Amino acid sequence: MTTVTGLTQERRLVTAIPGPKSIEAIKRRTEATSQGLGMAIPVVIERASDAILLDIDGNQIIDLGSGIGVVNVGNAASRVVDRVIEQVQAFTHTCFTVAPYMGYIEVCEKLNALTPGTHKKKSILVNSGAEAVENAVKIARHYTKRAAIVVFEHSYHGRTNLTMALTAKNMPYKEGFGPFAPEIYRVPMPYSFHWVGDQATITADALEMVISKIEKEIGAHNVAAILIEPIQGEGGFIVPPKGFMPALATYAADNGIVFIADEVQTGFARTGRMFAVEDENLVPDMIITAKGIAGGLPLAGVTGRAEIMDSVHVSGLGGTFGGNPIACAAALGAIETIEAEALVARAAHIGTVLGQSLRALQKKYPIIGEVRGRGAMQAIELVEAGSKLPNTAAMNAVVKYCQSKGVLILTAGTYSNVIRFLPPLVITDELLHDAMGVLEEAFASL
Ligand SMILES: *Cc1c(COP(=O)(O)O)cnc(C)c1O
Repeated sequence: MTTVTGLTQERRLVTAIPGPKSIEAIKRRTEATSQGLGMAIPVVIERASDAILLDIDGNQIIDLGSGIGVVNVGNAASRVVDRVIEQVQAFTHTCFTVAPYMGYIEVCEKLNALTPGTHKKKSILVNSGAEAVENAVKIARHYTKRAAIVVFEHSYHGRTNLTMALTAKNMPYKEGFGPFAPEIYRVPMPYSFHWVGDQATITADALEMVISKIEKEIGAHNVAAILIEPIQGEGGFIVPPKGFMPALATYAADNGIVFIADEVQTGFARTGRMFAVEDENLVPDMIITAKGIAGGLPLAGVTGRAEIMDSVHVSGLGGTFGGNPIACAAALGAIETIEAEALVARAAHIGTVLGQSLRALQKKYPIIGEVRGRGAMQAIELVEAGSKLPNTAAMNAVVKYCQSKGVLILTAGTYSNVIRFLPPLVITDELLHDAMGVLEEAFASL
């Protein structure tokens, strides 16, 4: 049924990047859109499939960003496309809280079944990661009748007023956008590369600081929720040391605090598990999903213990577009793709391939301070050689070089010195190796 013709999975440049058509189109972009919107690569996309983006000048670019970890199942995945076409012809909207439809119910059933834990779960669907975070906080506060939310250094949770408050980094996310929502408390995040000691020491130190802050500065009985990204995304793919999150979850349970995992970037097979918390057999009270959930359509979910999710009065939750039927159809297609194409295992394999290439590169180029991540969520932190001082100039130069050769990579990091790799999980080994070859050329060119 799909009418999409796939692109050959190869990098191919027919003009400079950006080409003449993109340059013209970007002029119109500048005229028509707010400069407040950033742009990772100045080319305009005409079509995409699997791990290749085709621009309007005819260049084929390797996609190592997946639209920020969204098209985990590949660009224009056939099961997503087919289900979307079928749904758009059936109906496009009723509003789930006006008249329900099966797609929404089925996505929630899937979320309840796929997320960790055997307890009874319930879900809601909304439009974006930020809206899901907002709802998770809303529900946790309603359930606990407490106000305080504990968040971490280097965290990113979105761009709405509440989620800006939850986010750590000022520039560009918060600068000039205050005042921010109250009752948000930021605690240290164990960032192994910049902390002193072995993993066990760092874990113990971090737990001591976090719990002391909660008890002395907030009062545990005032805390509604602890909100954490199992691997921090925009913060620079910071992986907490083993044991940190499980100990926090235990502390939360002991103190009537809702433990919320923001799996917006880590979820849906990205890290070589369906959800990143599975790596430590962690069972959060609530789990927030978005990005990779629907193969590129806007959808997000909040899944949690039934007693928490059901604590809200009727019509206390909702929204006009949340869980749109087309987005739900796309999510069912994406989840089916993850299962049918064994993309959880595929993400782990990508992690091995990327990890090997990046560590080999680190041996040659001491400005690569650390290689870290899990599965198809890998990053390198760039430093001034022989120190841990951020090397933003090198990051920018490497990204620019890769773009000029047709490889799209994204940046991240509190200190703006991290290059992150988030390829679609269907990327071929050939394309990965080709992209890593370009990355190596980029370092050689510095
Ligand atoms: C992207 C992201 C969000 C916000 O999602 P949007 O869909 O952009 O609103 C929240 N949390 C994390 C961890 C993210 O990576």
